Amino acid sequence: MTDKIDIASMTKDELCSFFKSIGEPKFRAEQVFTWISRGASISEMTNLSKALREKLSQIALDSLPRVEKKLVSQIDGTVKYLFRLYDDALIESVLMKYKHGNTLCISSQVGCRMGCRFCASTIGGRSRDLLPSELLGQVIAAEKDSGERVSNIVMMGIGEPLDNYDNVIKFLKLVNSEGGLNIGYRHISLSTCGVVPRILELSDEELPITLSISLHAATDEKRSEIMPINKKYPISELLTACVSYYKKTGRRISFEYTLISGKNDGIADADELSSLLCHYFKGTGAPIHVNLIRVNEVEETGFKKGSEESVRRFAERLESRGITATVRRRLGADVNAACGQLRRSAAST
Ligand code: SAH
Repeated sequence: MTDKIDIASMTKDELCSFFKSIGEPKFRAEQVFTWISRGASISEMTNLSKALREKLSQIALDSLPRVEKKLVSQIDGTVKYLFRLYDDALIESVLMKYKHGNTLCISSQVGCRMGCRFCASTIGGRSRDLLPSELLGQVIAAEKDSGERVSNIVMMGIGEPLDNYDNVIKFLKLVNSEGGLNIGYRHISLSTCGVVPRILELSDEELPITLSISLHAATDEKRSEIMPINKKYPISELLTACVSYYKKTGRRISFEYTLISGKNDGIADADELSSLLCHYFKGTGAPIHVNLIRVNEVEETGFKKGSEESVRRFAERLESRGITATVRRRLGADVNAACGQLRRSAAST
């Protein structure tokens, strides 16, 4: 670890106290907060005196992720970033371009300890949590590199955001701050494999973000087989927490369902899924949405994706039973855009 001070993880109030503690006026906080959100290095903070810049360079942590590698899709312009962190750890972010604006998919941890069997990010375990400044820094670095504004954020990259709860909450507050990136909570989605106590805690934070649940199976037997978290927090507890989240926040919840050939992609699976969701959400008024994606084949996992036809049939079956389903468009197919794969290939070269 480092003994340097992570000023980029500080709120404006915390920066005020920090500057006071080193004998500087409070207005420095506003100046530095704005510089940080533009991705400026301390030497570039030209409205600070040279002496202050030198002092800050010595004591402050430079936690802005650096672009280690960048792949640009020839198909749809998706940019996949491999970022190097201050301690040389590597993470990934993906910038996706839509008509309504740019979405950045960010990582929340270096690796992951959730152990989902189809996922590349968890293969080497988790080495550490990302700091609030490193969560924010992915957005700042992507904006700086691309010269374009990021308008939406999805926390669907490497790691489990609710396993890095405090730093994620701090990040959400920072990214929403005036004078900073000022991205509205409604433009942010958080995806979780189902850490139930944290979902309940999140519902009390009064942050109107969109919650996305990685469900991937409709029975405990099948879900526990592919997602170890289900042994700790089974489907009944997870969906009860989702209903409570909806009742408290009024925010819609979407469900991610990765289709794995021969495992969870049959018509009977679609029927079980629709019955399950109807059972828990009937009468709540919650709009339920299922996002379907064919599994991204990761060599080590051995899982295979089914045909496009099988996805279509699954989606139609859900729709016929009253569940809205979208088949995810796969962006950046030629840049290995699924999470964890670029980092793994970098680690093994
Ligand atoms: N830990 C969080 C967020 C990161 S994963 C979560 O579990 O939600 C983002 C999404 O990608 C999750 O829905 C995850 O289950 C899915 N995913 C992971 N590996 C995948 C793969 N090989 N193919 C398709 N989806 C995958």
